[in-house]
Amino acid sequence: MSALVSAFATSYVPSLGLAPPAVHAAGRCAALPRMEVSREEESLRVLEEELAKLKAENEQLMSPTRRDLFKIPFAIGATWSTYKAVTSPSFDFPGLDSLKEATRAQLYSGPGERAVNKFFPGNLGSSTVDHLVARTLSARGFTPENTLFATSTCPDEVNTIPGELTDLLQTRWGENFALGGLGGVPFVGKAGLTAYSHHVPDSPGKGKMFIVFAPHVGVEADGKVGALKRVNQEGVSTACGASIGAYNGIIKEIDGGGVPFQVGDDRVDGVPVGTSTTFDAQIEFIKQKLKKRIVNIEETPDRIAYITYLMYGLAREYFVDEVLKATPGIWDYADELTVMGGIMVNRPEGGDRFMPLMFQTRSPEAGSTVDLYDETFGTRPDLTRVLQNDPVLALKFYDYDLETSSVAYNARLKKTASLPSKKKAPCVDSNPEQCPLWATAGECTTNAAFMSKECALSCDMCPP
Ligand SMILES: [Zn+2]
Repeated sequence: MSALVSAFATSYVPSLGLAPPAVHAAGRCAALPRMEVSREEESLRVLEEELAKLKAENEQLMSPTRRDLFKIPFAIGATWSTYKAVTSPSFDFPGLDSLKEATRAQLYSGPGERAVNKFFPGNLGSSTVDHLVARTLSARGFTPENTLFATSTCPDEVNTIPGELTDLLQTRWGENFALGGLGGVPFVGKAGLTAYSHHVPDSPGKGKMFIVFAPHVGVEADGKVGALKRVNQEGVSTACGASIGAYNGIIKEIDGGGVPFQVGDDRVDGVPVGTSTTFDAQIEFIKQKLKKRIVNIEETPDRIAYITYLMYGLAREYFVDEVLKATPGIWDYADELTVMGGIMVNRPEGGDRFMPLMFQTRSPEAGSTVDLYDETFGTRPDLTRVLQNDPVLALKFYDYDLETSSVAYNARLKKTASLPSKKKAPCVDSNPEQCPLWATAGECTTNAAFMSKECALSCDMCPP
């Protein structure tokens, strides 16, 4: 509105543009000089034009199209609220998880799905894990108000995708104290764990700690383990880059006959600026620890899947033995500690999967550990096939607890290893040249006692 209109509007409001101007009402008009009247008439004409324009604008403002425009922000607001409600962990109804799992199986099948199920049996969807864990922990008195949640997962952004496990758990339980470094190893150490345990909420009495540790691995749609096409990237990259990088480094070191890295050597102390491995301490730690664990890798059905299990073992040992059990003051503010360990499987589509391998809780008292795995996730999958057909190795991934010391644990493991069930004797012929001939001649039947002992392979009499 022009300054002129503003000036007139002041005198005509509230009958803006409707009442005849006062100058026309009295005979004063005639007494005014012609020039003055003409200017006033001109001003009135401008005013009427301005008012007509305003009126037109007002009508346009209230037109159906404009009204629809006004509705858009409200529609966006309503849609966003619905989305927030539906995707929040508290949004639930009976059978929702089964529905999601069934839908996923329909939508996402093929090599990727088969590889995940083959190498990481017992894997579950993020939402399913969140709900199952919430049911178990709620029954034990865990609430968002009395619990402080923590994770020891790799910093890789694929582990914090909205709607996947870490995000769901954090939304449900509140904040997330991040204990993890590369590969999911809890590099914050005892100092970090002390800080975490001292941040546990004051509830009436003491609060509760819930920690998830989980190395991760990508599985591509074509079934390649250790590969992942990330959102907004065209190419496929490695996941977990840290553990695969460490593994490749070890192989290169072995192939090249290189001198292994040692703490205290020149490459750590007194090296030229910019070449120090100090700032790569995490990957060097993983390399050293991983190297000792790689045994008979050629016997494993998939090397990267196997490395992922080794990383789980590494993260667990470091977390449980070297940090958790060795941190004084962990019970200063809490009366219960629950730990869930497993492998996070990142996928380009169809949602992530989580393979639970450990779910235990304990209080400060010795001997108080309760295994929550079975009541939460059901029967544990048999890992023998994916772990070099070695039942002892498979057992390692379950037989571990929050209290037993490493010494006692290793002694128990050795005892188990000496059991005759460890490995079957190979089924062979004692006389590889004659046995097939004798078998053809019918000796397997006519001379069964001898043949079953000496020519088991040719007679197809191998013990089950
Ligand atoms: Zn990683």
